[in-house]
Amino acid sequence: METPTYDIIVIGGGPAGMTAAIYARRASKTVLVLEATACGGQIINTPDIENYPAEAHISGFDFANKLYEQAKALGAEFKFERALSLRDGGLKTVLTKKNSYAARAVIIATGSENRRLGLENEDRLIGRGISYCANCDGAFFRKKTVAVAGGGNTALEDALYLADVAEKVYLIHRRDSFRGEAATVEHLREKKNVEFVLNSRVTKLGADKRLSSIEVTDIHGEVTELKVDGLFVAVGRIPENRDFSDVIELDAAGYAVADESCRTRSKGVFVAGDNRTKAVRQLVTATADGAVAATEAIHFLNG
Ligand code: NAP
Repeated sequence: METPTYDIIVIGGGPAGMTAAIYARRASKTVLVLEATACGGQIINTPDIENYPAEAHISGFDFANKLYEQAKALGAEFKFERALSLRDGGLKTVLTKKNSYAARAVIIATGSENRRLGLENEDRLIGRGISYCANCDGAFFRKKTVAVAGGGNTALEDALYLADVAEKVYLIHRRDSFRGEAATVEHLREKKNVEFVLNSRVTKLGADKRLSSIEVTDIHGEVTELKVDGLFVAVGRIPENRDFSDVIELDAAGYAVADESCRTRSKGVFVAGDNRTKAVRQLVTATADGAVAATEAIHFLNG
């Protein structure tokens, strides 16, 4: 079977990848975007983006859709297949489950995935009481009891959002101080239905068909059972670079090592967005990476 060949393959159809596709097409390069699920990445879970320049309010879904339409209209090709590996033999080959695609340059823009707690039955209970997205699933827990696990901004904002929806919210964090913003912690302390469970971790999930309780263990080893209808896990994210680790260098946390040029150690392989080593992971820095990575790829192709 012949392998279709492009100038640039973009792995990942989030804001970074789709921006890269736009820049590459405007330089008349042939572009394939490979997306494992749906275009947009994690931003599609954000109900209202307020910090993207010149867009005072836009939903993540609408933002992603506009980017997709823009890239399509410029001639980027999209295929909804998960890239399973990347081989670099001058011409680069990307393998999916059923197909292989080749390109002279590749931009890896795979973003990150939710970190799991790593508890027994956690995967089985997703959608049956366990969620990684309060904005997406919070409404299912109206007037119910929920817990949020984590101490970063995502956990704090999730707890704040859920406090207005659910009857009761436990905020469970493994330390007694928060990584997230102090102002949000203060807002939470003002909410009468939010209970802080600090110096504690969720250690067991109680469930039959659905989650019905959680076991929480504090730093002294004391175990408490909490009856909950839902558990929102917000313990950070993991970059999705594992499948490409033989071609690009990863740091200890799994981020693809690349500076602001988005170049990796392999010539013609670039990385853009949240899966790259960088200080600020925001929508605007993801799209900026897409522009930089595509521009670098274009220079590489033009020699
Ligand atoms: P994060 O800042 O990495 O926080 C993860 C939290 O989960 C930390 O409190 C961490 O505890 C805890 N944690 C990690 N692994 C755990 C485990 N195995 N068990 C229990 N707890 C665990 O992640 P995030 O909240 O998703 O935020 C990611 C980035 O996006 C951050 O830079 C954040 O500021 C940003 N963000 C910004 C906004 C905003 O600006 N409005 C909103 C959301 C997110 P420790 O603190 O003890 O390490």
